[in-house]
Amino acid sequence: MKIIIHGGFFSESEQSHKVKVAKQNSLKAIAKRSFEYLEKHSAAETVVFAVKLLEDNELYNAGTGSQIQSDGKIRMSASLMNGETQKFSGVINIQNVKNPIEVAEVLMKEDDRVLGDNGAKIYAKKNGFSDYSTETVQRRKEFEEKAKSGGKGTVGCVALDQNGHLAAATSTGGKGFELEGRISDSATVAGNFANQFCGVSCTGVGEDIVSNATAAKIVIRVTDGMKIEEAFRKTFSELKEIDGFAGAISIDHQGNIFHQNSHPTMVFASFDGKNFGVFE
Ligand code: ASP
Repeated sequence: MKIIIHGGFFSESEQSHKVKVAKQNSLKAIAKRSFEYLEKHSAAETVVFAVKLLEDNELYNAGTGSQIQSDGKIRMSASLMNGETQKFSGVINIQNVKNPIEVAEVLMKEDDRVLGDNGAKIYAKKNGFSDYSTETVQRRKEFEEKAKSGGKGTVGCVALDQNGHLAAATSTGGKGFELEGRISDSATVAGNFANQFCGVSCTGVGEDIVSNATAAKIVIRVTDGMKIEEAFRKTFSELKEIDGFAGAISIDHQGNIFHQNSHPTMVFASFDGKNFGVFE
């Protein structure tokens, strides 16, 4: 069993040392708690559990604490991919629900598994998700001061369970100040993808991640026999060709954990039951 989570990018110049330590500590705690959950649950259940904890933490740009868009509204996107069944589900630009990743999880049983905007909200309501404002005082302040924090804090998780199954989940409040209707990579196969060989969750500039097809490319390369490090190296060299900005976390079916980012510093924590990996 293995788990890795990320909390988007961190910039020492924009965010204080105190925030850095808070992110390190919260990621470690969530990785450990999620690993304990993984001991009794599937990879698909665990990635939802971990992402929900991250969505509930105001430090991150997902769920509570999501960034505000150019029209003053918050729209969130989240997706889940079960590597065992190779099914993907997600919500795009949903408003006023506490945990978008849980709506994505409920959608997994449907024929229509990715819903957007109002349709996603109507579905959530019908399935018992009550209205909830994910706006925080800090995000409103940033919005009013027009402090472009550049989409920092998207969250994601990849897990490998004891039956050897992989899953990936990703959730975001977007890049902040975006145009109404803009679609993030986080609920696409470029930002979140898994099969029986590999699982990947991305963060960074959604447009770059979609142009590079980052998560899907890494997974397919590992599926076709490339080592995980090599799959990352090649995919990130292609990202560099388009001057792309992204980070990704991953686990392969042999339990190798890997992560890479094009720019400093993606915040992450991994745990294997004994040892932590944490960003510096
Ligand atoms: N990828 C997210 C988006 O473009 C933002 C981020 O990961 O920071 O919506």
